[in-house]
Order: sequence, then structure tokens, then C-alpha cells
Amino acid sequence: MKKIPVSSHDAGPRSVAVRVSSLAPATLTHADRCDRCGARAYVAAMIGAGRAGLVAMLFCAHHFRRWEDGIRDAAVQIIDERFQLEQGVAAQKRADYPNGN
Ligand SMILES: [Zn+2]
Repeated sequence: MKKIPVSSHDAGPRSVAVRVSSLAPATLTHADRCDRCGARAYVAAMIGAGRAGLVAMLFCAHHFRRWEDGIRDAAVQIIDERFQLEQGVAAQKRADYPNGN
């Protein structure tokens, strides 16, 4: 058997760069579209598809709500970014009423 040289360092804990943000990382953009209706997707569900591995399915808020139970049963991971929808509405309200009324 071939031996692979391994070098080990015992230098104790290393410092790593950590990006700190109060905002959750946005992974879905306006380029991501609902698989059903083409509206902007706010939820991505990673669903096991047998030998194909994981398949990402994108849903708008409307269609995710419609099939939420089934999606939650089938999905391995769900990325829910519907908070962006609420922030968008809040931003729109601020734009409509810049004086805070
Ligand atoms: Zn949709």
C-alpha cells in the first residue's frame, strides 16, 4: 500500500475569518423563479430524487403555502426566504409614505 505523507501541525486554535451580519444570507435572487408559475421564488426545497441525488425546487410564497405540508415531508432542506417578501413590502410602504405616516 502506498503511504501518503501527512504533515500535522499542533499549533492550537487558529483564527478564522467570520463574517458577521444581522441579516440572514440571501441565497435566492430575483433571477430565481417559481417552478410552477414563474413568479419570484422565495423558498427553495432540496428534495431527494433517488439516484439523481438532491434536486432543488423553487417556489413562490403562494405555491409554497399551497403545498407546504407535502414539501416539508419530501424535502431534506428548505430555504425559506419569505422574510424578503415582508421586507420588500415594508420598504415599499416607506417609499410610499416617506414622512412615516
Ligand atoms: Zn408559484
